[in-house]
Amino acid sequence: MKVEQKFSLVKSNIVSACNRSARSPEEVTVIAVTKYVSEERALEALDAGIIHFGENRDEGLAAKWDRLGDRPVWHFIGNLQTRKVKNIIDKVTYIHSLDRHSLAKEINKRANRQIKCFVQINTSGEESKQGLKPDEAIKFINELKEYPHILVVGLMTMAPNTNEENILRNCFRRLKDLQTEVENLSLHHAPCKELSMGMSNDYMIAIEEGATFVRIGTALVGE
Ligand SMILES: *Cc1c(COP(=O)(O)O)cnc(C)c1O
Repeated sequence: MKVEQKFSLVKSNIVSACNRSARSPEEVTVIAVTKYVSEERALEALDAGIIHFGENRDEGLAAKWDRLGDRPVWHFIGNLQTRKVKNIIDKVTYIHSLDRHSLAKEINKRANRQIKCFVQINTSGEESKQGLKPDEAIKFINELKEYPHILVVGLMTMAPNTNEENILRNCFRRLKDLQTEVENLSLHHAPCKELSMGMSNDYMIAIEEGATFVRIGTALVGE
């Protein structure tokens, strides 16, 4: 299926999910996750009108960047090794996987401007998942004020790979509650208004629970 058709489908699903939860579709930004697809396919997504793109490896980002350059808004969405920061920092506007001080320090050092960061939270408790435990988040975010190049725009989570709606909703609600708590602290370096949650198989549920950025690969650009 062409990206254009898939994008139409995703957009109508977003409208439905917003209707069910009394939200406005303008509150939801779609990130096309292009990590599985060719540069050609990424270019097709750009031509279909998608603006935000996500990659989870420095090599993948570099390859797509060679073709698409700075026309998209680039998001780094995966586990980020500290030594790889220098390879991605000039290309990305957003980093979704901030979860430790060593990484914050390196981002701050390598960036020549403010980077919009999501603090990644492990809402499921699965050991395989990256991210801070929910009860570690506030302390960590408070401590990020020493890094002038880091702006905490929101929180990010990955829900478990399951179709059990209750489990998914619980993860998303936990993130929403924590995000509200941080936002209410009114920290200058951490406005924390955004929620990056929802992928191909759970983005509609994530939107019903408050997602403002959804990261969609397979369902949007999958071949
Ligand atoms: C791959 C990936 C996605 C997109 O996955 P799909 O299931 O293909 O939509 C979203 N977020 C992160 C962090 C990813 O690594």
